[in-house]
Formats: sequence, C-alpha cells, structure tokens
Amino acid sequence: LSDRLQLTLGDLGRAKRLDEDAVNKAMREIRLALLEADVNFQVVKDFVAGVKAAALGEDILKGLDAGQQVVKLVHDRLAELMGSGDSKLAFGRPPTVILMTGLQGSGKTTTSAKLALHLRRQGKRPGLVAADLQRPAAIDQLEQLGRQIAIPVYRTDTSDPVRAAAEGLERAKGDGLDVVIVDTAGRLHVDEALMDELARVRDAVKPLNVLLVLDAMTGQEAVNVAEAFQRRIAFDGVVLTKLDGDARGGAALSVKAITGKPIKFASVGEKLDQLEVFHPDRMASRILGMGDVLTLIEKAEAAVAEDEQAEMERRMRSGEFTFDDFLKSYRMVRRMGPLKGVLKMLPGVGKQLDGIDVDEGQMARVEAIVLSMTPQERRLPHLINGPRRRRIAAGSGTSIDEVNKLLAARKQMQKMMKQLGKGKLPALPPELSG
Ligand code: GDP
Ligand code: MG
Repeated sequence: LSDRLQLTLGDLGRAKRLDEDAVNKAMREIRLALLEADVNFQVVKDFVAGVKAAALGEDILKGLDAGQQVVKLVHDRLAELMGSGDSKLAFGRPPTVILMTGLQGSGKTTTSAKLALHLRRQGKRPGLVAADLQRPAAIDQLEQLGRQIAIPVYRTDTSDPVRAAAEGLERAKGDGLDVVIVDTAGRLHVDEALMDELARVRDAVKPLNVLLVLDAMTGQEAVNVAEAFQRRIAFDGVVLTKLDGDARGGAALSVKAITGKPIKFASVGEKLDQLEVFHPDRMASRILGMGDVLTLIEKAEAAVAEDEQAEMERRMRSGEFTFDDFLKSYRMVRRMGPLKGVLKMLPGVGKQLDGIDVDEGQMARVEAIVLSMTPQERRLPHLINGPRRRRIAAGSGTSIDEVNKLLAARKQMQKMMKQLGKGKLPALPPELSG
C-alpha cells in the first residue's frame, strides 16, 4: 500500500496544479492501493469519494504543493475514518472488569497479559483470570505470561468457564486488585457455542469493558468476525493485533468504518510490552508510509519526564545510586519499550530489525527483585546480607544468584556514576565491552 501511494503522490508533487485530472489519477491509485490492502470495498468507495470531494473543494493549494496537499487530505481522512470514538478504557468502582473476546489465535491471551502490564505501568493493580477452559494449555500459557511480568493469575479447577470467571473475579477482588482481565476461549470460527459461552461469562462478571481482539493479518475476515460479534456480544472496542505483520492498516480502516466501534489498542509484536494505545492519526501515517515519527518523539518524551531527569542528574553528580535510583532509571528505559520497537518507527528502518530480541522476562525479574527489598534496603544496599538475600530471592520468585548479580550490577553502576560525576568517562564493565 504505502510504496504505491507514495509513488503516486510523489508524481503529483511534481505537478504545478491540483486539477481534476491529477486528483482523479491519484484517487484511482489510492482506491487500488486500499483494495490491495484488504480494505472493505464499500469503505474504499466512500473513502475515495470523500477525499475527492474535499480535494476539489475551494481551499486547496494554500501554501502547499499538490502532493503535500493530497497527502494531507488522504491522511486526515484516513485518521477521521479510523478515529472518532473513545480510545480509553472505562474505569468504575474497583475492580474494573475487562472481558477479552475473539477467535482462537487472534491474540486474546497475549493481549490480556500485555494489557495487564500496560495498566500496571499506569499505577493500577491488575490481575488475570483464566476462563479459557477449552484446552488445559491455555491456562498454562496465561500463567506463564503472568509469571513473566509478575502479575497474579487466577485459575479454578472446574470445566465451567462461567464458574472459573466468577470465582477468579471474586478472588482477585479479595486480593484487593483494581482491574481484572478475563481471558476467554475462542473458536476457529464464529459459532453459537462460542457466542453463548461468552454471553454467559459476560453476564457473570459484568465487565465495564468488552474488548474484541482481531488479527489484523486476516484482512477482510476481521471485518466479518467483528460484524458477527457485534450481533451477539456488544463489545466496546477493538484490539487490533499483529500489526507488525504485512497486512497493516486495511483491517483498522474497515473495522472502524463498519462496526463504528473504536479501536482502542494496537498490538505490534509478540513481546509483552508491544501494545500501544491506538492513535488514528498515527495509523494513518503508517498506512501512508511516512514513518511514525510522532509516536517516536512522544515515547522518548514520556520516558524521560524532565524533572525526573534533572533529579537523576543531580544524584549522578553526587555519586549516589541507590536501588530506588536503579528502579527509576530502569523504568525510564522500559517505558520507551524495546529499542527495536522504537527504531522500527523511523522511516526506512522497519524490517531490517527482525530477529533482534529484547528479554522482557529478564527485565520483569529485575524489577521484581528490587520491589522485594524494603525501602531501607533500597536506600542502603550494603545492609543486604545473606539472610536478606534469601528473603528477597524468595519474595521475588528468583534465585539468590540472580539477586547477587543485581547487587553487583548496582555497585558497578554506582561506580560509573561516581566517575561521571567527576567528569571522567567511565570504563565499560567487562560484560558490556567487546
Ligand atoms: P488466543 O488464542 O486468542 O489467546 O491467541 P494467543 O494470545 O495465544 O496468540 C496467538 C499467537 O499470536 C501467539 O503465538 C502470539 O504470540 C501471537 N501474537 C499475538 N499478538 C501478536 C502481535 O501483535 N504480533 C505478532 N507478531 N504475534 C502476535
Ligand atoms: Mg488464548
């Protein structure tokens, strides 16, 4: 889609005027490109008609050349079509229940875990409830994901998904959690049994948010699934997964246009922090292949909130580096997401980065270790003796060995900070050099 559009629009950019011929030519190409991207036929038709009408309007060509003008129009229209509607989750009297629905393989279980991580980073206390009892492996999968990010998972020994959901919710409530995400079973196709089960689970847990998880790679099929669900389960929003694949864009465009339900999140990879709040304007840029520079800038800005940065700098200069500092700097880096995701948004980088890995599990374990220390231990790490190490390892579900490694890493970082504070360039620790 994007190559093609850029070619056409590039052509247009060299033209001096945006006349009817130029617009028609561009629209023909855009129409083809959208159809190729698996956008629903009717949606394409309406879209093209809308852009065309706007392009031939009066206010064309003010300070822009023809190509820029059409890019802007196409972009704005795409964003308009995909946007409008609330991309935020609803929160009520805790615990807020989020019900995840969708076909098998769409990404429900993975997205449940991602959403939990996302919400915890916003200061919530989320838990996961396993209500997919189709296959025993499904529960194990959710438990494993939960362990990776240190989020509690509630399972019940029953073959009744309604009971599993209700009991899980009760226990999560008892544990004082404020968001409960219920992972449900899918089927290969939409069928009565699935819809019936979902409706019963929904009535049992009374979710404030019903999310429909759709695989963006299935293209047009995603629209059919969304329509079928809409007839039986009133979902509030969509999570579009696998947008890191090739067929990006098409489904986002059609699903919103046809169901009218907002797309709330975009999943852009298998790693647990590869879930993004959906931004229609940015998705439009992505579809148009302009590179998602906006998201990139925002991510970097959010990661290093200015005051936080100043405080870190002050402490670095003083050569202090407690585990509280460690956690803070660690989280700054984590909030940016894996480097891979950040780099991918730069125009022209994209696919070259496939195959590079970021170990989310490792990062979560480090965070868990620090969180298992008392505030005093975090401030005064030299207090952490043998018995304390054992307690911290047990509390964080890690090993003494891992705790020792982290203690050593903090020491190393403190040394580097001290050198930086004195204006010297620190030597790289041996495991990082070479
Ligand atoms: P469920 O059957 O709906 O619960 O789907 P799962 O959560 O088990 O996901 C099915 C497969 O899709 C798994 O292998 C996931 O790792 C993968 N997956 C989920 N979301 C994404 C995504 O955004 N990108 C990619 N590349 N893979 C994904
Ligand atoms: Mg699943």
